[in-house]
Amino acid sequence: MPTPDTFTPPERVLMGPGPSNAAPEVLQAMSNPLVGHLDPAFIGMMEEIKTMLRSVFQTKNEMTFPVSGTGSAGMEFCFVNLLEPGDEVLIAINGVFGTRMADVAARCGAIVTRVESPWGQIIEPAQIQDALAQASNPKLVAVVHAETSTGVENPVAEIGKVVASSGALFLVDAVTSLGGIPVRIDEWGVDAVYSGTQKCLSCPPGLSPVSLSERAVKLATSRGRQVQSWYLDVNLLAGYWGEERVYHHTAPISMNYALHAALRLILDEGLENRWRRHQNNHLLLKAGLDAVGLTLSSQAGYQLPQLNAISVPAGVDETAVRMKLLNDFNIEVGAGLGPLKGKIWRVGLMGETSSRENVRLLLSALCQCLNECGRSVDANAALTATA
Ligand SMILES: *Cc1c(COP(=O)(O)O)cnc(C)c1O
Repeated sequence: MPTPDTFTPPERVLMGPGPSNAAPEVLQAMSNPLVGHLDPAFIGMMEEIKTMLRSVFQTKNEMTFPVSGTGSAGMEFCFVNLLEPGDEVLIAINGVFGTRMADVAARCGAIVTRVESPWGQIIEPAQIQDALAQASNPKLVAVVHAETSTGVENPVAEIGKVVASSGALFLVDAVTSLGGIPVRIDEWGVDAVYSGTQKCLSCPPGLSPVSLSERAVKLATSRGRQVQSWYLDVNLLAGYWGEERVYHHTAPISMNYALHAALRLILDEGLENRWRRHQNNHLLLKAGLDAVGLTLSSQAGYQLPQLNAISVPAGVDETAVRMKLLNDFNIEVGAGLGPLKGKIWRVGLMGETSSRENVRLLLSALCQCLNECGRSVDANAALTATA
């Protein structure tokens, strides 16, 4: 076989459930020359990453750093360090990622109680309260903040209050929320949280920022049984990310450059400004959709600005429209998963991708695709509504 040509990716507008478009500064940072993972210059940068992550997570937690791996690695990190076989855990499930947490917890040997809502609806704090009242000795409650599979924001602050009064540990998935909507780890009493670089942080996929409270660290460092995962054992990782700087695994150097650049951009923009930008562009998209009779499928009042689940109108071929957006307009949007397969398009307005120009681009392209797929809509109405 002849050597393939150099790979040149098409230039897509990434408006799906992630990855989102990376900021140019981030991609540029990744092309910098490598240094060693124990180089004093790299160690200095690691310290800056930890400090910036604490600001973005709104936490004072000492144990705050990026796990090498994607968001799912951060999920495993939290569960394997905190759970031992036989532990009782409550998992809120209203989409793909709650389901994944239950799978991971069960693989740790935990006894899992599933607290479920239909996909597209929130988990009510009262559901968690009832489940806690029925549990004998619940060690941990886990909730996904921004359910990327449905576009719903679970009321994490309110659930946190219920969990705090039970004494259980509180674990939150902030993969799609961090950098897009308010995430307040200390204020909400969160003991363990993980995120991912490729959603609202606008980095390529590859790192999972995590943070553990003092209580969670104490539990993970004093447990009777060794952590089942060598790679994700916080006792070993702390040796590299903490004071000692002992080799554990080789940190993905370029990805850490990327995260450093991305966090700088977030802090320069300001968290409040960034949240407001996401909210404004979401409202703009909604106004445009409304003008052509399209609606969001997720529960009103809890719709994520960064992930918009648009209901596919009756009689329209979901896949045909999505493929047309990709092939004719270079726009990627996501399909529905599980019970929502064929019923929604998932339009991400995450990080760098969340702009007024992209909202209008999407609306105009989507209207054109719908017109070509047998549903007549007035693209001008959508654009006028967002002018
Ligand atoms: C994307 C995502 C994950 C998984 O992250 P990967 O980077 O794909 O491993 C977990 N939770 C939520 C809410 C996500 O959106």
